Amino acid sequence: MEGFVYLTEADLVKAAAYLELSPEEFERRYVYRTRHQRRLRKPRGSQCEFLTEGGCGIHPAKPTQCRLFPYWPHLLSSRREWEKTAKWCPGIGQGELVQIGEAHERAEEMKTAYPNFF
Ligand code: SF4
Repeated sequence: MEGFVYLTEADLVKAAAYLELSPEEFERRYVYRTRHQRRLRKPRGSQCEFLTEGGCGIHPAKPTQCRLFPYWPHLLSSRREWEKTAKWCPGIGQGELVQIGEAHERAEEMKTAYPNFF
């Protein structure tokens, strides 16, 4: 799942509303859809269309995957993967402490949101 931002149907509707677009228009502009999933298109030279100097341009409506990062099931279950991710993500290890129970709840939410991946 790394490298792409996958959206649930609810994510798509929420992000579209945030940008004051219809879901159809949001999808036409920003989404690549296959039979089993939908993900944000990746613009040339950038990781994400919504990445700005000030951070995420759709922060209040960002996709589930972004909102729950780094509490993804495969990162929580592997110290090696977690440490590898912490090397490139400056946010890991910063901010408020998240209790392990809550981290696992977020990982469960990921499993529910993206059943094709977990
Ligand atoms: S948090 Fe925002 S800018 Fe970052 S990948 Fe997700 S949608 Fe794109």
